[in-house]
This record gives sequence, structure tokens and C-alpha cells, in this order.
Amino acid sequence: MKTVTRFAPSPNGNLHLGHAFSAIYAHDLAREHGGEFLLRIEDIDGPRSRREFADNFRRDLEWLGLEWLEVPNQSTRLDSYTQYTQKLMDLDLLYPCDCTRREIQSLPPRMTETGIEYPGSSRGRAHKVKGDFALRLDVDKAMAAAGECVWTDEQAGSILADPREFGDVVIVRKDLPASYHLAVTVDDAHDGVTDVTRGADLFGATHIHRLLQAVLELPVPHWHHHALILDGKGEKLSKSRNSPPLNDRREAGEDGLGLAAKLRAGQFSLGT
Ligand code: GLU
Repeated sequence: MKTVTRFAPSPNGNLHLGHAFSAIYAHDLAREHGGEFLLRIEDIDGPRSRREFADNFRRDLEWLGLEWLEVPNQSTRLDSYTQYTQKLMDLDLLYPCDCTRREIQSLPPRMTETGIEYPGSSRGRAHKVKGDFALRLDVDKAMAAAGECVWTDEQAGSILADPREFGDVVIVRKDLPASYHLAVTVDDAHDGVTDVTRGADLFGATHIHRLLQAVLELPVPHWHHHALILDGKGEKLSKSRNSPPLNDRREAGEDGLGLAAKLRAGQFSLGT
């Protein structure tokens, strides 16, 4: 089977060195196996997504010497999220939740890698509620329906999927027809991604994606969660805080191929 990898940035800010590392990782993995490297712009979050960031992404990748095949942006795939949501509804695995962030935060908190765990206050609700609501996955029910699911990570090996620590995650947002979890799972399947490569900060989310693949009967890829590039204080880079954007470096005339070579040679400090 041909190796297919992807880089899937969200155009809500400029890319930084960590993204460059991630894109190079995915690109090189595909190239090593004579496969395909895809670029998918994850612009589902309309109000926060801006075309000029996506344009910068393409210029940055080119500057780094990468070649890719671009697949349709997430914003063009909304119908497919609705179809898969319907499938989850038919399986009776979703329930509406109109809790506000503030209400959830006022309950005894439990932080997880992907945010505050939802305590399940709306679980078991009938499908008709008034006003705006999100749809959450009844994780216990989904796990019972799926049976035992295993996923494999290049470094960590074989792992039993257990997303319970994240609580009943949002599948359809109040304001959008999908959450990150649903969109990325459906898109990776549709794009034929065989190897999902991304930062170690998304390791935990893979438990959720593996469960969704099982209940939605989608193909199961292999995962590679790579270490994150850290700043001088040992903190991971972020679009909003501590990281000079790649396009500033590019526009300042830095050598992109040289930077890519340094990233490949491991000349930046990496977390575990
Ligand atoms: N759009 C996500 C991000 O920019 C990609 C996450 C993933 O690779 O699954 O963080």
C-alpha cells in the first residue's frame, strides 16, 4: 500500500518552527517510501480562519523545499461531517449538550491534555432541546459498541484505545457542523492517509480518533507522534506566544533549505 502522509495546519495564525519540523517529518516519511505527502488546510473554524495565513503556509513550505499535493480545505467538506454525524446519531451515540463553558468550568475541574474534561451533566438527554447545543459522544456507549480497539504508534507501539479520561467529547460544535475530532478522523480516512504524523501534544487525542474510526467503520492508519521543538525556556512553541513566524524568517531572507537541513539534523531542542 502506498504511504500517504499529511500536514494539516489550521489557518488561524502563522506557522512556526514546530510546524516546519512537523511538515518536514511528514514529507520525508512519504518520500522515503515513495508515497504521497498531502497538504490539507483545516479551515473549519470559519471566523478564526484567514486566507492570508493559508497563502503564507504554501509559501513557507515551498521555501523549506517541500513538494506536496493539496487536497480540499475542510470548509468544503461540511456535508461529509453531517453524514457521519447522522451515522453516529443512528447508532444512538450522540446527545445534545447546551452547557456553557462557564457551567462546565464551575463543576469540579479535571484537566486533560485536550482541555477540561466534560463531566457528563447532559448525558442521556433526549435529542430535542431548545436553542444552541453541541453534540457529545457518549464515550462509554461508544466503547461498548466498538469493543476492544488497538492503535499503533511508531514510538510507543501497540496501545489500547481508552478515551475515557477526556469525558464525552464534542463531535458537533454549537457553531460548526464538526469538532476537530470528527473532522480530522473523517478527512484522514477520505484522503487515504496511511500514516498520521503530528506532535506528541496530540497523542491523547488519538484514543478518541481510534474510537471514532471503529464506530464509523473507517480505515485505521498508523500514527507517529513526534517530539516537539522547545524554546529557550523549555516550553513548546505556540502560534500566539513565543515563536517567530516562519514567514518573518522567509521575508528577512533566511535560507529556507538551510533551516530545513538544520531541522532534519536535529539542531533544535526537542521535548520528549
Ligand atoms: N489542524 C491541527 C493543528 O493545526 C492538526 C492536528 C492534526 O495533525 O491532527 O493543530
